[in-house]
Amino acid sequence: MTHSLMMPPPGLIDPVPVPRPAADEGAARLDLLGRSRGDIAALFAEAGLDARQARLRSRQVFHWIYHRGETDFEAMTDIAKAMRPWLAERFVVGRPHVVESQHSRDGTRKWLLQTADGHDFEMVFIPDADRGTLCVSSQVGCTLNCRFCHTGTMRLVRNLTAAEIVGQVMLARDALGEWPRGNGTMAGLDTDESAGHYTSDGRLLTNIVMMGMGEPLYNFDNVRDALNVIMDGDGLALSKRRITLSTSGVVPMMQRCGEEIGVNLAVSLHAVTKEVRDEIVPLNRKYGIDELLRACAAYPGASNARRITFEYVMLRDKNDSDDDARELVRLLRAYKLPAKVNLIPFNPWPGAPYECSSPERVKRFSEIVFAAGISAPVRTPRGRDIDAACGQLRTAAEKRSRAERDRAALAAA
Ligand code: SAH
Ligand code: SF4
Repeated sequence: MTHSLMMPPPGLIDPVPVPRPAADEGAARLDLLGRSRGDIAALFAEAGLDARQARLRSRQVFHWIYHRGETDFEAMTDIAKAMRPWLAERFVVGRPHVVESQHSRDGTRKWLLQTADGHDFEMVFIPDADRGTLCVSSQVGCTLNCRFCHTGTMRLVRNLTAAEIVGQVMLARDALGEWPRGNGTMAGLDTDESAGHYTSDGRLLTNIVMMGMGEPLYNFDNVRDALNVIMDGDGLALSKRRITLSTSGVVPMMQRCGEEIGVNLAVSLHAVTKEVRDEIVPLNRKYGIDELLRACAAYPGASNARRITFEYVMLRDKNDSDDDARELVRLLRAYKLPAKVNLIPFNPWPGAPYECSSPERVKRFSEIVFAAGISAPVRTPRGRDIDAACGQLRTAAEKRSRAERDRAALAAA
């Protein structure tokens, strides 16, 4: 505490207490979470290391942070012993604050997280037999107001920083206990890695989808910087082939997304006529279907081996007719798109203006698209019981009081 420093000694004439800015060390230290190797080197140089030392130390620290999941400089054993307190005095390696975590009956996990300035956001982990997918948020809320999406009804919107985005992946790996073991030196790690020595849980987090809260292409710089850290081969090393970015159709940013990030693209198409898409994805009034599909056809890196996913939410009597399915096929063919279609049963939320199509309707729609030679699986909703399914993310915090959350957190501890 800094109170004693703020208390003026007796007899002092000047009555205004002036707190010493560096008194709270925690606040003064810089958080390295989410920073690239280059950024870390620049910070080390600013703090006084010469260029060579800054580069070397940033390489080591980067590896410890993102490959090992280490947050304690003292445990970074290949860094000179005398150097570690120097780092600890100036820097920290943080994590987003967890408000609450929930487990679904189907194994899906959802975390309610909080930024340092008090905004809530969520991430979801979806385990499958052959993969584990982390659904990552890019914004608190969303400005786009798609009519079927609960996130779009949130009032508060703020972009997440690169640290808050990377932090979700770090936190998930903490929670899954999946940092590699080993003696900690970089050389030692390589042999560990090739032998596949992970903790007993095995490799659980294999894929990332930017499909949580928010429109990632409205927060382009932070999403790009975060994903580039996540893909760095010296750190988390997730392949761009295992990362998918979903956009509602921010056409002007799609080319740059392919060039500067290079991950798989998913597009929330959801309708095949101007009238219906204008209604359910209002961004369509700005960037229409033709413009959107042209941008998809030009997406860097898309090929038959790396198809673009077209997401299509099934809304009863809105976009789910046989004609809609046939028009979808026609459009994808007309633009010669290397496409697969993902049919998403609509996940309801209180007050939603739509209902989900019947299972028979979804099946029939899928069959029409399949018959045209385009893959069109129906996505099984996951984590519905904890409101973790697509479009259900809208922080519980908006519905529950702080006291209720504190009680739940205590009970979960
Ligand atoms: N903003 C981006 C990514 C986040 S939304 C986008 O719109 O693509 C992730 C996916 O969930 C999108 O395809 C979105 O349309 C879908 N979605 C939103 N609300 C839904 C709901 N209630 N039921 C099913 N899918 C929904
Ligand atoms: Fe935003 Fe995507 Fe929801 Fe639309 S579907 S409101 S773009 S998060």
